[in-house]
Amino acid sequence: MWAALIDVTGSVVVRDVPAARPADGQALIRVGQAGICGTDLKIAAGHIPVTLPRVLGHEMTGWVEIPGRTGTPPAGTAVMINPSTFCGVCHLCRADLSHLCRQGRLLGRDGDGCFAEYIAVDEALLHSIPESVTPDAGALLQVLSTCVHAQSSFGVRPGDSALVIGLGVAGLLHVQLLRERGVHTIIAVTGSPWKQDLARRFGASVVASPTEAADAVAAATGGRGADIAIECAGAPATFTQALRLAGTGATVVMFGLTMGTAETTPYEWYYKELTIRNPRAARPRDYDSAIRLSAEQRVDLAPLVTGRFPLGQLPDALAACADPAQLKVVLDIAERVG
Ligand SMILES: [Zn+2]
Ligand SMILES: [Zn+2]
Repeated sequence: MWAALIDVTGSVVVRDVPAARPADGQALIRVGQAGICGTDLKIAAGHIPVTLPRVLGHEMTGWVEIPGRTGTPPAGTAVMINPSTFCGVCHLCRADLSHLCRQGRLLGRDGDGCFAEYIAVDEALLHSIPESVTPDAGALLQVLSTCVHAQSSFGVRPGDSALVIGLGVAGLLHVQLLRERGVHTIIAVTGSPWKQDLARRFGASVVASPTEAADAVAAATGGRGADIAIECAGAPATFTQALRLAGTGATVVMFGLTMGTAETTPYEWYYKELTIRNPRAARPRDYDSAIRLSAEQRVDLAPLVTGRFPLGQLPDALAACADPAQLKVVLDIAERVG
């Protein structure tokens, strides 16, 4: 089968590799679509070290080719794959934190991923997708699930305001989820006018550039600051900005930032008694919630797919991800059948 992999740090090749074979308890999945994300770019560039050779990719939908031991879901079922493997028996799995499993691995980083025609995965990682989820939406389900997980870490009270900084795919999904949860005052921050337009379409009540953000939050909240602040730009400076623009008693979600060193003032967190959440990956039920939201057309995923490439053009697809005019770049690995 064909797969895109790293043989040598810093370069990606597409070549023939031995066919994926399911172990006991695993199903064989024919991959349909796979999304490319920042983690893939960091692995491809050698910034996240992996054991070589390694097949990239962790955002995927496809069809069951050979079911696992239980026969569920049966052959032909459309599925998405939870890329975070888990053991199911450690203390974290038993505490409903299987996404943090001590033995857990991320497919495409710690094990071979989905930029391949087939992948063998544990049956417990499969989530069936109804027909009402379009192929365009399917490629975004994994990212949506991580946003659903992040938002499950805070409640929404009537009249709450929310700030979303950074409007890539995740930021635009957070805006939609906040709207779905009944938040009316949503301040969305980006320097890019076309992303501001998309954010308005998705439910933002106010859009602002990074330099306008402080005034916009003050005006929209009567000077109180945001009750919920979600940082999606992934820069230390925007995390600092989220802390600053959050109001007293607010929740700050550190969604984009995973690296670097942020300048913060502990007194400010203390004085405002902030709750800081650091969501990582998603739990199985977050995947089911994301699939349901998409199936019921309560979130609009298709406009976020801006680039499509066949598997053989992965190097071009990776290069396209650097283009600021792109949101989600997707690999079409198989045409949809029956
Ligand atoms: Zn990803
Ligand atoms: Zn576990």
